[in-house]
Amino acid sequence: MLSNLAVRDIETLVHPYTNLAAHRETGPLVLESGKGVYVYDSNGKEYLEGMAGLWCTALGYSNQELIETAYEQMKKLPFQHIFGGRSHDPAIELAEKLKEIAPVPISKVFYGASGSDANDTQIKIVWYMNNALGRPQKKKIISRLKGYHGVTVASASLTGLPNNHIDFDLPLPGILHTSCPHHYRFAEPGESEQDFSSRMAAELEEMILREGPDTVAAFIAEPVMGAGGAITPPAGYFEKINAVLAKYDILFIADEVITGFGRTGNMFGTTTYGLAADTLSCAKQITSAYFPLSAVMMNERVYEVLVDQSRKIGTFGHGNTYAGHPVGCAVAVKTLEIYQRERIVEHVRSVSPTFLRRLTKLEEHPLVGEARGVGMIGGVELVRDKATKASFEIKKGVGPKSVLFAQQEGLILRAMGDRVAFCPPLIMKEAEIEEMFDRYERALDKTL
Ligand code: PLP
Repeated sequence: MLSNLAVRDIETLVHPYTNLAAHRETGPLVLESGKGVYVYDSNGKEYLEGMAGLWCTALGYSNQELIETAYEQMKKLPFQHIFGGRSHDPAIELAEKLKEIAPVPISKVFYGASGSDANDTQIKIVWYMNNALGRPQKKKIISRLKGYHGVTVASASLTGLPNNHIDFDLPLPGILHTSCPHHYRFAEPGESEQDFSSRMAAELEEMILREGPDTVAAFIAEPVMGAGGAITPPAGYFEKINAVLAKYDILFIADEVITGFGRTGNMFGTTTYGLAADTLSCAKQITSAYFPLSAVMMNERVYEVLVDQSRKIGTFGHGNTYAGHPVGCAVAVKTLEIYQRERIVEHVRSVSPTFLRRLTKLEEHPLVGEARGVGMIGGVELVRDKATKASFEIKKGVGPKSVLFAQQEGLILRAMGDRVAFCPPLIMKEAEIEEMFDRYERALDKTL
């Protein structure tokens, strides 16, 4: 029996990333409130948050400092744009802070409102920059199969997942996808992680040579693949990728939308895995999701080209109304202050061994083929046969089924096919981590 709210939901909403036909039968899970690492549904049932919302509520759900910062900023200056040289304190202060903590030398910051529009900006900057440099043929961008970079026409093209392309007439021409570096799933029998990484880098190089190095402008990657299945990179992968990109003067865009701000045990995934990034996209944990905000951070080389071009043609013709929203920037400044004051990176490092011990222990379960992670993010792959790694038929929906059982056990997780992601709020304590995995183990037993 559907609740009144559920019926009203079905009558009114088109949900993102939802099987719209099935939703008409099942209805929504209506969540009403949150406290710390817990959320509560409209019946008052409590759930442990295993996904930090959508990889974003790092500080949990009831952080009074963030709430008060937003309220105070709303009272003082609820909106101003930063077009045409206008500015305000929160936008400047946040850019200063980002430059200070950036994992590579950063010259300037460009704001947006979502991870998708940050990556859209990245593409436009790459194209604009190469026109400005007088090499208009150098425009292609290489992403990776199973990479996730957003949903706008251009960022969905970067995304390497079929659901984002089929019947949307995507990807755009000039956006290419190289292999997914998922060792468990795609390594040859007996192939070491280092050898597999070498093969991934060789495949990237072959693609660049096939297309012509003077036509390839940029490569984009998440340090840990998120929506593709919470996949950590194999040993040596980024080191080998860096070398290929440097050889052909190809820009490296690090998509830190999930990994930014402590998730992997460093402030940025770029540091954890040694990405030679020229530009970075950040969103989500930048405000602990208390306000929509994204930031593109660019190095001096990229910024100088943009300035030179303005000398020639005038206005840099890009930006949206909410770029540098004062409330978002003020909340982000406070979020970064809390991360530093509360030593969030040190906290992640101290609880990560418990997180990873319980995560990898899931491999003892008959349904789990792989369970691997870093810091406070991990992915679990459910398989039909552990010895052969044979997958379940997708239509059996074993991943989503386990997540539904987890929900019954009072735990929120996310299934991507038969991979299930764990990405809890960074403030989660050891006892809560143990509880999270106890609940998922019970859910897995029911899934059997
Ligand atoms: N990039 C990555 C790595 C993401 O995980 C996401 C969203 O999950 C995006 C980009 C898109 O961000 P948004 O959903 O805010 O547009």
